[in-house]
Amino acid sequence: MYEFPEELRKAYEALPHALVYSEAVNNKAVPLLVSDGFCRLVGMEREKVMEWFPKGQFERIHPDDVGRVAQVSETFAKKESEYDLVLRSKHPDGYHVIHAIGQWQTMPDGTELAVLEYADITGNAEVIASTTQNYQIFKKDHFYTDPLTGLPNLNYINRFADERVHTLRTQNLTPQLIYIDVIAMQYYNNQYGYQKGNELLCEVKNVLKLVFPEALIGRYADDHFILIDAYESQKDTESRLIEADNSIRRRAEGNTTGIKAGVCVFEAKTATTEAIDRSKNALKWLGNDLNRVCHFYTHVAESALWNQRYIVENFETALEEKWIKVYYQGIGHVGDGSPATAEALARWNDPVRGILSPGEFIPVLERYHLLYKLDLYMAEQVCSEMLVRKKWGLQDIPVSVNFSAHDFDHIDIPAELLRIYEKHNPGTEDVPKQLIVEVTEQDMAKATDRFLEQLHKLKELGFSIWMDDFGSGYSSLNMFGRYDVDLIKFDMDFMRHLDDNKGVNRMIMKAMTEMAKGMGIRTLAEGIETEEQNLFLQEIGCELAQGFFFHRPEPLEAMIYRIESRRKEEGQES
Ligand code: C2E
Ligand code: MG
Ligand code: MG
Repeated sequence: MYEFPEELRKAYEALPHALVYSEAVNNKAVPLLVSDGFCRLVGMEREKVMEWFPKGQFERIHPDDVGRVAQVSETFAKKESEYDLVLRSKHPDGYHVIHAIGQWQTMPDGTELAVLEYADITGNAEVIASTTQNYQIFKKDHFYTDPLTGLPNLNYINRFADERVHTLRTQNLTPQLIYIDVIAMQYYNNQYGYQKGNELLCEVKNVLKLVFPEALIGRYADDHFILIDAYESQKDTESRLIEADNSIRRRAEGNTTGIKAGVCVFEAKTATTEAIDRSKNALKWLGNDLNRVCHFYTHVAESALWNQRYIVENFETALEEKWIKVYYQGIGHVGDGSPATAEALARWNDPVRGILSPGEFIPVLERYHLLYKLDLYMAEQVCSEMLVRKKWGLQDIPVSVNFSAHDFDHIDIPAELLRIYEKHNPGTEDVPKQLIVEVTEQDMAKATDRFLEQLHKLKELGFSIWMDDFGSGYSSLNMFGRYDVDLIKFDMDFMRHLDDNKGVNRMIMKAMTEMAKGMGIRTLAEGIETEEQNLFLQEIGCELAQGFFFHRPEPLEAMIYRIESRRKEEGQES
């Protein structure tokens, strides 16, 4: 064992910074000398420390860091690596962040001693994290550094990003977190090989450092980078990202490889982990839009995404549990409003979210190609409720069901309607009279051959086809002649804007009603809410009307209750 000259020992022991000299004996580190600074750091008397080190020290290390410290200690002992790492060590007031550096020192007699120096950087971590240059002290520590680019890695971001955010806030700046994805990286790797791919990632780093010189930039994983910086404006962030993208495209040798990014601007209480998730979502929403480099996170889009997920995940249950119900809206004759037909409208009565309207779930179901299931379910419910309606004397009122263009691509609607009706009303043949198929004008305008064949087939079988929302899109008058429809439903917008633009809608409705009549097509106006509108429809000779003025959509029970009450009243009167 090495013996320190007494004077030297005293001088070293008096040092205020934390130092330990030890010697390797039978592959074990035996402490020879510890400084006052080290005793203070670990909170023990010198004698205790000499017994305690290094085994006891290990017991204090954070479980996540132990493996790494052991590994570095071993390679350092074999002189295969340096000793330079950051670890968390338990203290009475919680974990402290310790930076440890070790080196071998050859003493005058040739003995080699390990000198370990420790610095408690817990308090300084914020300062350290605040400048990009400073993190370089961890550079040899692979736990915090990405070996390829030399950038801080995921561990570093998890540990220090919060502090960077905090520092920006204390400077009265608004932090932003930018999540960057290198596009077509896989393609680039396949095309040019991994070596070139790695070079490109290093180029991305260089470009980001140039364009965002003040930012904390880290490599999150694979071809994903994270950047934390002060936010000035959307325009500023956007133009910098465009600059980075252009620059990377140039460096990627004319390749299509560039970047795209999701950006989260911190609010008062946004946590860094939350900001990472938000920026990732924003990136997802950007999708494959090649015209834009970045997308900013918004709560609105987030909640839309949640709703969408909720609907897709719960749709099957909603059908099985009958959370989705048919609401009938009575359609009356213009004028006296006497019953003509009813329209089946879907309502999703959700146990968690209350009543959801079609506007909330139909576009989602359509996007996920599930709408045909809803429409068949609606047709099925309408048919299964027919017997109940018959019982209450409502059998003469046919019901119209909405179908979308997608439905006709997925299933054979005529065959399905016959099958469903047969199932609920075996032996009868009056299904075509009881069910009306509603298809919007917009869907009809883009009908495929398959769709048109089915419309013909439905007509052949005797079903009525109603053209919904007529006049809502870019209608053209030849729509009248092109499809063999029985009725057109004037879109609600006509009623809503009846008197706009010097009453031009009145004139259009009048002309179209006449034209339809001339072609033997019936007419219906949607969304009538006032007597005045009712009178106008009467004037122009529109046959049917649907709107809150006559009835609001209601479930079958409510409809029966209403009719029963009216009958009773009438009975009492007579
Ligand atoms: P739509 O087929 O044009 O149905 C008429 C819509 O207008 C219904 O909205 C109805 O509640 C509403 N409405 C009726 N009268 C008035 C009124 O006087 N004033 C106002 N402001 N609104 C009135 P809802 O039920 O929200 O349905 C919206 C759309 O969702 C429907 O428009 C239809 O395109 C679609 N939809 C509803 N149920 C189904 C379904 O089961 N399958 C399919 N494919 N689409 C459906
Ligand atoms: Mg409709
Ligand atoms: Mg409509």
